[in-house]
Amino acid sequence: MLEVKDLWVTYKSRSGIGVSAVRGVDFDIPDNSFLGLVGESGCGKSTLGFGIAGLLDPKRNDVSGKVILDGQDLYTLSKEQLRTLRWEKLSVVLQGGMNAFNPVLKIKQQFIDVMRAHSNQSTSSMVDRIAELLSAVQLDPRIMDSYPHELSGGMKQRTAIALSLVLHPRLVILDEPTTALDVVVQRSIINMLSELQRLQKFSVLFISHDLGLVLEVANRVMVMYSGQIVEDKPASVIMDDAQHPYTKALLGCYVNPHAENVSLKGIPGTPPDLRGGVQGCPFAPRCSFVMDVCFTKTPQLVKCENGLVACHLYRQDEVTVE
Ligand code: SF4
Repeated sequence: MLEVKDLWVTYKSRSGIGVSAVRGVDFDIPDNSFLGLVGESGCGKSTLGFGIAGLLDPKRNDVSGKVILDGQDLYTLSKEQLRTLRWEKLSVVLQGGMNAFNPVLKIKQQFIDVMRAHSNQSTSSMVDRIAELLSAVQLDPRIMDSYPHELSGGMKQRTAIALSLVLHPRLVILDEPTTALDVVVQRSIINMLSELQRLQKFSVLFISHDLGLVLEVANRVMVMYSGQIVEDKPASVIMDDAQHPYTKALLGCYVNPHAENVSLKGIPGTPPDLRGGVQGCPFAPRCSFVMDVCFTKTPQLVKCENGLVACHLYRQDEVTVE
């Protein structure tokens, strides 16, 4: 349903030095799937999400590659075509999405504005649809007559998720949708989202720094580091079959609530400065398995038993994924 091919996003700086936050990323998202994208802050996850949704300002970014949604390359569409497609085929919920509501309009009006811009439905059928969506995100439909400030943070974020589904998109990109909320609210929203996806069968790209959260809801996990995908596996196997040293290190930071003895390890060092590019494997300065080749040759994403991994430890089978 979505194919991303050799996507590069380079932020332009005043000094003229470009920072490539997304570097040659390839992946696809099939219909009816829940894909988690994880990595530390600054690894390029949000930039990738914004790049897919066409939300990057071309004056400030150089973007190349292809983003093909339902057979249409988004980067060849006009602004108007992209605007239409955005709500109908693809929608986005951001961490601060709950603060993006217009404070002087009631919730109902904000849903209606979106629906009017994309369809000719009668007001009564639009109100029915709003009520249906608010119920689906476990809110009392009567809140449609409230102003945003009358809702709690969790209610607003549920409403933002409901709004993202208003025109039945095939793909919803959620960028840290629950990070600003407390853990109890976070948990109930994640459970609700998982149930909604299961019932309505849209696809989700769920972006988060929280591997534990992603493992609970996603059916596939992609791990990103320094602008590249370094591992891509089904969520059911990545816990026991992580191969990339960075994925293993991330798992070491994850507290399994079911484990009896928990020992936490941090990841030493910090991600590299991407100004001026990266030579070799970007994880090399932090990797406990580092070899000489890691400083000179960038590992390619290659097939492994359960998915894809980019690490020279597995280079004996190295076949670049087309
Ligand atoms: Fe570590 Fe080398 Fe693998 Fe990079 S390529 S993760 S430095 S072993």
